[in-house]
Amino acid sequence: MAATYYDGRSAEGRAASVFAGADGLEIRLADADLLWPYGRLSLVSAADHGQRVVIAPRPGAAERLSLSGEDVLETLAAWAPQLRRQKPSRGHVRSVLVAGAIIAVLAVFWAGYPIVKQGIVAVFPSSWADRIGRSMAADNRLFGEPCDGAAGMAALEALSARLTQGMDLPEPVKVHVTASKDVNAFAAPGGHIVLLHGLIKEARSPDEVAGVLAHEIGHVQHRHPINRLVDVAGIQLIVTSISGDVGALGTLALMLSYGIDDEAEADRTGLDMLLAAGIAPDGLAAFFDRMARKNENKLTVGQFLRTHPPLEERSAMIRGRRPTGAVTPALTQQQWRDLRAVCDGVATEDEADEPNGGGDV
Ligand SMILES: [Zn+2]
Repeated sequence: MAATYYDGRSAEGRAASVFAGADGLEIRLADADLLWPYGRLSLVSAADHGQRVVIAPRPGAAERLSLSGEDVLETLAAWAPQLRRQKPSRGHVRSVLVAGAIIAVLAVFWAGYPIVKQGIVAVFPSSWADRIGRSMAADNRLFGEPCDGAAGMAALEALSARLTQGMDLPEPVKVHVTASKDVNAFAAPGGHIVLLHGLIKEARSPDEVAGVLAHEIGHVQHRHPINRLVDVAGIQLIVTSISGDVGALGTLALMLSYGIDDEAEADRTGLDMLLAAGIAPDGLAAFFDRMARKNENKLTVGQFLRTHPPLEERSAMIRGRRPTGAVTPALTQQQWRDLRAVCDGVATEDEADEPNGGGDV
């Protein structure tokens, strides 16, 4: 049988003669003979009712043999019956993704980046976004160990539920607390939000934490994290995703801060959420004012503040809208104590030697 052999390393095909030996398929090339045992042969693709077939020496192998001819699949299956049962193929999904990546690269040149980016964000699988966000939240080198005080986490989840009630979020919010002294918080892809414990310690009331949390949920609502990730990683995101190692992209996402427009949008949505939940927005405004004073005094409050709209502007915008109905504290006094103690028993890193690259409030 005449066939074309591919070594899996180059795209070049080589003419081969194929014989049915006693132990396996004998493949004779100009300069080498190969033996592929029947029992391990794997079907990569079959077309034209089994007239054109591509096989591999074993599942997952990169080598390929392309054969065509009358009933070639039936002929092979006489020696290797598993080929008849196999669905073509594991390689198929992968080649569709690779083709998609190539089309996306071409489309960037043809249509321009913003349109392509919208497309990538629209089709980006939520399970991948979730994995990326989860791995970012778990980056203890940057953000410290996860805190899991049960009562504190329950208080935070109750607050999150109160803020998001009635909202149609693109993905459910998952809040994490980590044992870092940095005054910071950020929203990651997949609906993950990380509050660094330093921020909870710095806050003077649960309303302040509620304001920061509402702002971060605003980022989730507008899908800013995945947009930021696509900005930073670009087409590499697709290619890396094909390799399956999406978790490794998490740190990359920290390299780019949100733009001023994104921050203003998250502020507005966060403010709407506070008012709808009957929580006074003064907490968030007070927090911004205090951070602005700290920033002037050159205290370390996280480099994220430099890229944001001026904090005084943001607090003025927040103070400009008053709640119409009754307001109640974001948490009960007991819940507030529980939340402040959420990292008890978890070691806080003492030296702030790692730059706090991705923070966002
Ligand atoms: Zn923000």
